Amino acid sequence: MPLPKFPKPILLTKAALGTLAFVSALVILSGLVTIAFSEMRRDANWIDDARAGQAARAAIKSFQSRLGATVRDNAIWDDAYLRMQSPAGAAWAYENWGKVSADYPLYDVAIVLTPTLGVLSAYKKGIAFDPMKDFGAGLLRLAANSAATEPAASTAFIPTQEGLYVVAADRIQPYDSRPEVSTLHTLVYAKLLTPDVVGQLETTFDITGLRLAPAPLQEELSMPLLGPDGRAVAYFEWPSRLPGDQAFAHVHGYLIAAAMVLACIFAGLLRVGIRTAGRHKNDAERFRLRASHDDLTGLANRTGLAEAFDKRQLPAALAIVDLDGFKEVNDAWGHDVGDSLIQGVAARLREAVPEGTVARLGGDEFALLTDPGEMSTVAARVLTVMEREFVIDGRTIEVGASIGFAYPEDGCDRLELMRRADMALYHVKENGRGHAGSYLPELDRDRAMRTGLEDRLRKAIAAGEVQPFFQPLVGSKSREIKGVEALARWRTEAGPVSPEVFIPLAERSGLIDDLGKLMLRQALGAAMQWNGIYVSVNVSPSQLKNPRFAEDVIAIVYETGFDPRRLMLEVTEGVLIANPEQAKRSMEALRKLGIKFALDDFGSGYASIGALREFGFDRMKVDRSLVVELDDPKGLKILNATVALADALGISVTAEGVETEKQAEALFCAGCDQLQGYLVGRPMDVLQFNAFVANRLATA
Ligand code: C2E
Ligand code: CA
Ligand code: CA
Repeated sequence: MPLPKFPKPILLTKAALGTLAFVSALVILSGLVTIAFSEMRRDANWIDDARAGQAARAAIKSFQSRLGATVRDNAIWDDAYLRMQSPAGAAWAYENWGKVSADYPLYDVAIVLTPTLGVLSAYKKGIAFDPMKDFGAGLLRLAANSAATEPAASTAFIPTQEGLYVVAADRIQPYDSRPEVSTLHTLVYAKLLTPDVVGQLETTFDITGLRLAPAPLQEELSMPLLGPDGRAVAYFEWPSRLPGDQAFAHVHGYLIAAAMVLACIFAGLLRVGIRTAGRHKNDAERFRLRASHDDLTGLANRTGLAEAFDKRQLPAALAIVDLDGFKEVNDAWGHDVGDSLIQGVAARLREAVPEGTVARLGGDEFALLTDPGEMSTVAARVLTVMEREFVIDGRTIEVGASIGFAYPEDGCDRLELMRRADMALYHVKENGRGHAGSYLPELDRDRAMRTGLEDRLRKAIAAGEVQPFFQPLVGSKSREIKGVEALARWRTEAGPVSPEVFIPLAERSGLIDDLGKLMLRQALGAAMQWNGIYVSVNVSPSQLKNPRFAEDVIAIVYETGFDPRRLMLEVTEGVLIANPEQAKRSMEALRKLGIKFALDDFGSGYASIGALREFGFDRMKVDRSLVVELDDPKGLKILNATVALADALGISVTAEGVETEKQAEALFCAGCDQLQGYLVGRPMDVLQFNAFVANRLATA
């Protein structure tokens, strides 16, 4: 990203400085009264406009929430839920809702939609009508939103031929059980904003001249009315009352006279002064904008966000939005496309957050500041706008977003709010990305626990307390032991910790290299005594990324005196993603010594044929998930195809997680030449494994 360019410091000449000081003094003297008055006038106008703005916002909110509450009261109703599930649903809906719409003050329209969004019942003023004709797709959109706005109804404005309606929708559901959302009907109420209704709002909220308009007029004050997709469909407008202007008009004549006298005397000087001061001011303004805004998007930057936060009178909720897959776009298409994408995302975010602040924190990270009550709706809206693909230079690009947000609870300040939103984002990203999540105190507790565990793991590795267990790998026909896989085990005072927990932890915290070396050293040490079989050791993708990896492995092989031709390293397809070039170099270096490589967990992800071939794997380990599926004919087909593929590439296949004879049989028939799993033997310590081998030899 280009660095922001700052203007050069302004060097004023002495003469200009003198003039500036003189003129400034005169202007201050002569204009003091004028400024005071105009300031008062402006403030009075501004205060009144702000009050009217607030009143308008409150009017819209209370109008929407009243209808929302009414629809929710009716939708959360055991009897209604049961009736909707029965064939008599339509008749019941008419009796209870449709008929009522004839003369009920709170709504004019009552609609019931089926779970598949078909129309079950629709009445306007007590008369059946076709809601799709009047409300169109907006109605369906709103109904669909109502799942996201739980536990409140979703509301929005929808324009129709007759005029603007405020519409609210909620799922018809029992009071205290939560059935599957996809089985629920939706109840929709709508009320037309007639001139009468607008008139009532005008008096209740004291906004003189309030009216509806299709677009905002410049000299009038206005507030957008949002449709189901979050975009303005109409506006409330009202003229400013300008109380300050009225007051100003009284004293205005005197001020003009005084100003004119002074203006004549100092006009020349003023001109020079103003010009210099003007330039100064422009530079300062530019500087200020640069300092608080992001060059690429024009959004606020971190500083701008902090300023916006401090300026807010009411506490704000904060969200951090992080793009999913941005780095890949940048890598694949270059920085120009990446920059355009960031600009596109900025525009979408502004669209999703019309009120409130949108900022870019840097890279592909953005922040949003909104009213706490709006936060979850805003987050849902952001996810929706990000679903649409971007078209940049004729390329169609899809990126997702992960959102973490935090509410201003227990008076936490800006930095704490930021930390919490960040924590929530981290959690969202760990749990599959692409959604929004709020900060919860548990997250802090988890983090603390994890750091505790990380400390203990570091000590355990240093003390050699992480040890290998050994699981036999046998021929699928002969059932002779062909090899053994070393699996890491860590026993703490509180009991064993699963490798599914401590391996990812070691990867995240940079301990994996040391853990990998410890495992390799111990596994090779133990395996010296098992002649004739190979030893398989797991290697994490992040280990292979390390340029020192091959060197480290070779050092341990020499140190232990183990025959490298009996060593197999198991890597998962993660290695094909993270720095494949470095991985390939390491693999080539190790292969020269006769070390073999197995692709682990094949079938659990997306590893491609191309990759299998390109990396030159010697063996493929079919993931347990494929073996479990074997009972199903489709599963068997997938397995057969997988093995045939490996066969075509000249790669032999081990099946993992074999638990039954039946599976072993099917795997043998499909062409897997080695088996691993509880059927053959569980992972065991060195002594147990020795006994296992002895026992095999005795019974053979
Ligand atoms: P993996 O490499 O796929 O290892 C096989 C896992 O399946 C082991 O789990 C093993 O105990 C389990 N297993 C074997 N046979 C059966 C069976 O018949 N049924 C079932 N249900 N499970 C079976 P474990 O030991 O919990 O290891 C989990 C994962 O942790 C390993 O998956 C591997 O990815 C990782 N791991 C373990 N040790 C190391 C290590 O030293 N280094 C690295 N980088 N990763 C390791
Ligand atoms: Ca493995
Ligand atoms: Ca595996």
